Amino acid sequence: MGPGPSDVSPRVLEALARPTVGHLDPAFVALMEDLKERLRYTFQTQNPITFPLSGPGSVGMEACFVNLVEPGDTVIVCRNGVFGGRMLENVERCGGRAVVVDDTWGSPVDPNKLEDALKSNPGTKIVAFVHAETSTGAQSDARALTEIARSVGCLTIVDTVTSLGGTPVKVDEWGIDAAYSGTQKCLSCVPGLSPVTFGERALSAVKARRTKVQSWFMDLNLIMGYWGEGKRTYHHTAPVNSLYALHEALLILQEEGLEKAWARHAHNHRSLRAGIEAMGLSFAVEEAHRLPQLNAVSVPAGVDEAEVRRRLLEDYSLEIGAGLGSMAGKIWRVGLMGHASNLRNVLLCVGALDTVLSGMGAPIRAGRAVAAALDAHRAGAVG
Ligand SMILES: *Cc1c(COP(=O)(O)O)cnc(C)c1O
Repeated sequence: MGPGPSDVSPRVLEALARPTVGHLDPAFVALMEDLKERLRYTFQTQNPITFPLSGPGSVGMEACFVNLVEPGDTVIVCRNGVFGGRMLENVERCGGRAVVVDDTWGSPVDPNKLEDALKSNPGTKIVAFVHAETSTGAQSDARALTEIARSVGCLTIVDTVTSLGGTPVKVDEWGIDAAYSGTQKCLSCVPGLSPVTFGERALSAVKARRTKVQSWFMDLNLIMGYWGEGKRTYHHTAPVNSLYALHEALLILQEEGLEKAWARHAHNHRSLRAGIEAMGLSFAVEEAHRLPQLNAVSVPAGVDEAEVRRRLLEDYSLEIGAGLGSMAGKIWRVGLMGHASNLRNVLLCVGALDTVLSGMGAPIRAGRAVAAALDAHRAGAVG
């Protein structure tokens, strides 16, 4: 129950163990096409260029920047946590001129600040932001930010690593130009793949480049020789078994249905919240912007947060995450992602926290958390 990798379903693990066929085998090529179609559903897009890159979420991030940013391009990066900072690194390494819009960690990106930054930087080519900041547990309004960027003709690069499959991501409806995700968060697949999607405007920008994409491996023009339509040619050896696993994970998601998956994440978050609050603990992010799949819980004063995590792991085999950067030592990050977003985990987590914190003499209201979580579950139970 950390910030990822999340638990992988036995069905996905079973898929991983199937015999490895050639990456140009006709049966595998058929699976690739099916994968692309299922990813379009997951991203809620019709973009033909929607496929999994061979590499973790960070590769998806880098692929978006290296393909879309050319030396001298102005890129506005909205930064409200660790991953926004990485976007900035990417822009600088591509030779872009980065304009940073900073927001407090734990808050969403402020659309007014983006508007101001666009006004003071006419000619900006791209706006980049993180939809779900895993480092803080805050969700930004991707629809509003994209709309602002589009209204002045900017392209958008959106990080949906933690949001995809957990909270609504609607690439076409929101008009997102390029988005990337990861397999190990709410998709509950093994780590190491990065689903991406590129819209027409983004592809035109790639085609109109004056310079070569500086990364050979991530150059979309070359990758599409393998993942595009028509005859496939060798680019790199695809991670065949991981792709079986992703295919199975997407099947599971589709069987449940995206809307139901989003509702399940919200529901389990409410149960967790009831348990956390019954102990007298609180959340670090304002309610309206909280991610149901990544719960940032404030560490009570005087509590050694690392010791709590150590005891959870040793006594309960339960992993939760620590705070990063400016939030280190101040929060725990409790993941309820994908397959792991279920009542059993909620009860295990609040029960274990209750026992461990009481045992350490922390100032909490002991012995109520599990019942409170269960009550909230019953009150909000759907279906
Ligand atoms: C996890 C994460 C990444 C990086 O994904 P990796 O698979 O670890 O490379 C990028 N952005 C966000 C928001 C993430 O949560």
